[in-house]
Amino acid sequence: METEDKIKELSRIISECKHIVFFGGAGVSTESGIPDFRSKDGLYNQHDVKFDRYSPEYLLSIDCLIDHPDVFYEFYRQKLDCRTIEPNKAHIRLAELEKMGKLDGVITQNIDGLHQKAGSRNVQEIHGSTLRNYCMKCHKKYDAEFIFRSEDKIPKCPECGGMVRPDVTLYGEGLPQTAWVESMRLIYRADCLIVGGTSLAVQPAASLAYQFPGKYLVIINRDKTPADRNAQLVIHDSIGKVLDLTSFD
Ligand SMILES: [Zn+2]
Repeated sequence: METEDKIKELSRIISECKHIVFFGGAGVSTESGIPDFRSKDGLYNQHDVKFDRYSPEYLLSIDCLIDHPDVFYEFYRQKLDCRTIEPNKAHIRLAELEKMGKLDGVITQNIDGLHQKAGSRNVQEIHGSTLRNYCMKCHKKYDAEFIFRSEDKIPKCPECGGMVRPDVTLYGEGLPQTAWVESMRLIYRADCLIVGGTSLAVQPAASLAYQFPGKYLVIINRDKTPADRNAQLVIHDSIGKVLDLTSFD
């Protein structure tokens, strides 16, 4: 099938279904210009912090946060500040689909809050969000600005002096339970699951695609994924472009 026919088929599926769920990964955000945190381009050796000796996965791990918080926060501030980034067509079209009452929710592996910025209401963030912070000692919550505005190398809670950390799932940590349970609930109730912008390489997140028991599994990703063979429709293209060309009625 040509891409044009596949997009027509996606329009047909969307018009037939009443409980659509979207499950997205990094590809949804990269189209907004969010850089891949794994690349060390654009990193500066400030405050004598040298990143070269660490892997990107270590720099975003719970071990790094605990053992080398100065390194963790330097990397975090340089790489994960999403505050000025805007949603793209993919985020906007999904928010429209939710407003039409067709889309039950979005499950995302991204931590940038762009779905909410585009107007989506039911967003399950299975890897947390950089827009929320909390004190590790007294659990007081702080807004998105707190870590980026803090003049201390290591942001401290004004109430108790504990370390304030992002509400993001770091390497070495389990997924947030509530978001995970709610994601499963959405998937079990859905008649169509659209998986977009993810190579389904990261577990346990990728297992969500395999647990979907409904009628239509749709995969939209630039590259092949291991779940392609299970899907009713596979489109190897940009998620923003495909959703933009798909008609909703
Ligand atoms: Zn505190």
